[in-house]
Amino acid sequence: MNNQKKSPKVSLHISPQMWSQFRQSMQQYQRKNEEVIGFLFCKRHQVSKHKIRYYPKAWVVPSGDCYERQSVSGLVLKQPFHWYLLKTYLSEGLDVVHIHTHAGQGIPDFSGVDDRYESEYAKFISSSFYQKPRLISGVFDESLQQYQFRIWDRKGLSFQSIKCYQSWFEVPESQDLLIKRKQGTLNREQGFWDGVLDPQMETDNADLMFARQKVFGETCQKQLSELTVTLIGCGGIGSIFAELLGRLGVKKWVLIDPDRLEAVNLNRTPGATQKMVDQQWYKVDYVKHLIKRIYSTGSCVKAIPTSVANESVKQEIAASDLIVVATDNHLSRQIAQELALEYMRPLVCLGTHIDVKSDNIPRMYCRVTVPPLGGGWCLMCGNIINLQRAALESAPTEINTLAAGAGYLEGINDPAVFWLNSICASTGVGVIHGMVSGFLNLDSGLDWIYDFPSSSWHKTNTEYLETPDCYFCSSAPHLESTEDEDEDKIIIF
Ligand SMILES: [Zn+2]
Ligand SMILES: [Zn+2]
Repeated sequence: MNNQKKSPKVSLHISPQMWSQFRQSMQQYQRKNEEVIGFLFCKRHQVSKHKIRYYPKAWVVPSGDCYERQSVSGLVLKQPFHWYLLKTYLSEGLDVVHIHTHAGQGIPDFSGVDDRYESEYAKFISSSFYQKPRLISGVFDESLQQYQFRIWDRKGLSFQSIKCYQSWFEVPESQDLLIKRKQGTLNREQGFWDGVLDPQMETDNADLMFARQKVFGETCQKQLSELTVTLIGCGGIGSIFAELLGRLGVKKWVLIDPDRLEAVNLNRTPGATQKMVDQQWYKVDYVKHLIKRIYSTGSCVKAIPTSVANESVKQEIAASDLIVVATDNHLSRQIAQELALEYMRPLVCLGTHIDVKSDNIPRMYCRVTVPPLGGGWCLMCGNIINLQRAALESAPTEINTLAAGAGYLEGINDPAVFWLNSICASTGVGVIHGMVSGFLNLDSGLDWIYDFPSSSWHKTNTEYLETPDCYFCSSAPHLESTEDEDEDKIIIF
């Protein structure tokens, strides 16, 4: 029954936050010796010719009263409820992931009953909706730790097994780490120390360049080398950031910035020269030069000297594993955030600001913001960027000049120093290092502000940033029917 054709690699990518909510809900409705069903409704993203990823926009776990039968032998959902679900989400163009559990522990297998039922189901949904949705199915063991996923063709004739990632990135974790994490025997901190205790580590890593980073584990180093990072803004913060993250081990880059190097940049751009300025280098080419200086071979850098507002770069950004925005304007941050939400990509936002008040004592700030993957809060509802400013920045130049004159916009005359930008860029790189190796839990996002000369970090309580009705980041509602309600009644959160 397996597909013999060479087909693109398909993956399912769920944000850590949604994954834990979904699993909790499955557990809540699971009774002893009984199976439970859950749905994810996913968007499809064709990353490249060879790669397709699905990411959920909504999830549903029906409660006990939604079933005709719930027993060890199988589950049948009440038809009106089931049909309501499908109609609501599949007509929006989403594909469905049907998940159920099997009794017992360990990696579960799909049963013959599953094969027959899912084959019919795949055929049914693709023929019932104009958008011809696909069926992805998943089976979990009863502890909801081990699982398998597969995607069906539209005729219900064949399937292919697919990978599921419940992390910030879709880079493969080592099997060992994965199993420990699934078994729950590994917390994030232990994962970090695991590499130290592993005797294999000492002999495996022949790469001297990263010998002093072995402490973070081989997996982490491998993930860094496979990560594709889009950097929007290759100026005073972006260039330092690229130098640092490049040295940490990131080799694949997409660089976006329409500007050229200017003499006023030279106080804070490492390795930049007057000659580059004279030759009118694009900033993206200058940062590419920095990366190529680290890796004479084995790196892959796309330098795109254009604005992030340009439609042509959107697919490039969406296809990367991480978006970093280090520009001094609000519009590019807004666009980056919108893309990050649309394609469920991790976003890291870096910025600095220097204020000189009337007492002549400068106050200096840097800010590192990582909104949660897939929504919850974002740069817009968290007031991390100003939408009015973003709108002004998209206006024609004459209006901008007027606005700048009236003090609405920051311009190139803004004070900026290397050391402050370095604190910001370094911290951003540290946060990404923590995301990749797991020593930092970012599931609900992060917003840190550094304040100098008082020299203190303020950490925003991200609970206050959560905005359920944000125009930009509130995801499609997840839906649960509750047992106390009438059977037709459905509660939408
Ligand atoms: Zn089954
Ligand atoms: Zn928001």
